Amino acid sequence: MLIKTEMRIQETEVIGDIYCNVCGRKLKTDNHGYYEDFVHVEKHWGYTSEKDGTEECADICEQCWDKFTASFAIKSKKTA
Ligand SMILES: [Zn+2]
Repeated sequence: MLIKTEMRIQETEVIGDIYCNVCGRKLKTDNHGYYEDFVHVEKHWGYTSEKDGTEECADICEQCWDKFTASFAIKSKKTA
């Protein structure tokens, strides 16, 4: 009897410290290890951009997000 075996290697992403890209502050975790909420932005720039093919990502804490959105001419949409 032939037994076929297969080896699989699984990568697990371990989340380390998260820093706000705007103010540089390390995001806090609660007693259960949950991070304070933040905005994570990922952008892959397309061919109509001068950054075509570039990928960017950033994390923004709630306080910096509030300052950022307060500067918007047209306010962001919020739901309750
Ligand atoms: Zn911040």
